[in-house]
Amino acid sequence: MSGARERRQQVGEAWTTWLVTRGQWRSVAACRSADPDLFFPISDSGPALEQAVEAKAICATCRVRRECLAFALRTEQVHGIWGGTTEHERTAVRRRTVSEQPVTESRAQPAPEVGVRRLPA
Ligand code: SF4
Repeated sequence: MSGARERRQQVGEAWTTWLVTRGQWRSVAACRSADPDLFFPISDSGPALEQAVEAKAICATCRVRRECLAFALRTEQVHGIWGGTTEHERTAVRRRTVSEQPVTESRAQPAPEVGVRRLPA
């Protein structure tokens, strides 16, 4: 990599970091100039599937992909491509995250007794 190119890349990364730390990650999103419809395919098949593939290709080049995915998971975005993931992929991420969390007191409640009848004392 040439010195000038390397310097431009460093400046770009520093600028991205500065914006991200101020919660302005969207201003450097790779999808800013893309067709928004690409990121909201109406189904998982046919032309909509091609849309999703095209949107994910844009996400693959995005410098704020991690922030975008974190936002989508935190705000429970149901529809669309966020951080290079479809809604089904985000659901899988949420399930995996929940199953990997350590059991805490609130999650360690005893299972309700089903089908057990107690006789009066
Ligand atoms: S990861 Fe994809 S959807 Fe998110 S900001 Fe970047 S290009 Fe847009």
